[in-house]
Amino acid sequence: MIEMHIGFDDTDSPKGGCTTYIAALLVEKLDSMGASFVDYPNLVRLNPNVPWKTRGNGALCLRIRCPNNLVEKIIETTIEVIEENAELSCEETNPGIIFFFNKVPQEIRDFAKRTVQGVVEMEEALRLVKTFGAEAVSMKKGRGIIGGLAAIGENLNADYTYEVIAYRTPENRGTTRRIRALSVKEMDEKTFPLTFNNIDPGTSRILITPRGPDPILYGIRGENPEVVKQAHEMVLQEESVERWVIFRTNHGTDAHLRKITSISEIQPYTPVVVRGIVAKEPKVIQGGHVILSIKDKTATVDCAAYEPTGILCETSKNLIVGDFVEAHGGVRPASTRHSITINLEKMRILELARKITLLNPICSDCGKRMKSMGKTKGFRCEKCGFRASQLKKTAVETNRKLKRRLYITSPRSQRHLTKPLCRYGREKSNAPKRTIKGWHFP
Ligand code: ATP
Repeated sequence: MIEMHIGFDDTDSPKGGCTTYIAALLVEKLDSMGASFVDYPNLVRLNPNVPWKTRGNGALCLRIRCPNNLVEKIIETTIEVIEENAELSCEETNPGIIFFFNKVPQEIRDFAKRTVQGVVEMEEALRLVKTFGAEAVSMKKGRGIIGGLAAIGENLNADYTYEVIAYRTPENRGTTRRIRALSVKEMDEKTFPLTFNNIDPGTSRILITPRGPDPILYGIRGENPEVVKQAHEMVLQEESVERWVIFRTNHGTDAHLRKITSISEIQPYTPVVVRGIVAKEPKVIQGGHVILSIKDKTATVDCAAYEPTGILCETSKNLIVGDFVEAHGGVRPASTRHSITINLEKMRILELARKITLLNPICSDCGKRMKSMGKTKGFRCEKCGFRASQLKKTAVETNRKLKRRLYITSPRSQRHLTKPLCRYGREKSNAPKRTIKGWHFP
């Protein structure tokens, strides 16, 4: 018997396809050939800020055990299934497949971590493939080699979650998804917080169904395989489900965010967690987005909270100069229109500055707030006519609407990797020992 890890990526296009769907097809094929799965298929989200991703920058890894004499057949079948189902006619689709045998070395795990948190080069992936004797198959430019190797290296031994994905039959793909909304609401009520991000609380929008032409009918995320399976059974489908699979993933774990100690370390396309003091009054720009700047001893950087981030946008609007915050988000490179910017996913308020407002003095005769008669001309009471040329404005401390806590973008605008509030305290630290019975259909 031999342990085999099959990683692959970059098979879909904006017009269709989905790498998870290919994984579902392969699960059935390899299963019927006699391979035994040592883990659920791993759906690993890589850095959401790389510019060349199609959608969610997801890569896949299947981990199996099989008799040595089956290896060649498994390799052949995998290549065949990917060739048949990848969107090869799309220029931007460049699949890559990696076959890795036995224990995954630390160097490939480190590579995976860097692929989730930053940008890596093809040369490095190819060097690792060569050093550790993996087999790589590239189609067209083969950029998917990077994602395939990273999916193998990310063994999801730290925090992880599950997602059950149900797929549509070919004739329905591209049409409006048909599931009973009320059943999703009931499922959410019964299973939250063990399942999460089913419905956006602010807009009541159903979040389990994607919107594109891909074959996914819906995906339900949760803390354990039993609960996502149960939740899936609660959803009333009004169109046929062709197949479904439970994946183990790094969704909702914040795996992409890397803590850095100074603003000057910020690099484009690299998600960060960084602390700074609000340096400029937040500005609301067209579309309701908020831009603010934070600074530390080393540099200043802009942060953007986009309108759909809801709570986060509202929070950012209410920050004032002097607030000490921790910004969490992806980094957009500078362009001709804006400087390098952190696109906020979360904001932790560490210290709130005192908000002082200068108010006109109160009339000593009648108690009404007085009116200014112009700069250096003193004040006049409109009610009783009392005038005072010596009085000055008084400083009044205003209550801040914000609290010292973590604010997270609303579920509708969370990235796959963003850890939602309900997951704090639920982090896991060990991979499961075995899979549950019936984790895929058929
Ligand atoms: P989907 O999530 O729908 O499967 P996608 O968003 O994953 O699609 P891909 O078509 O897989 O998009 O394209 C992402 C490409 O970027 C892959 O070829 C992958 O190897 C490569 N890639 C992913 N992360 C990095 C990274 N951190 N550095 C360099 N290349 C990366």
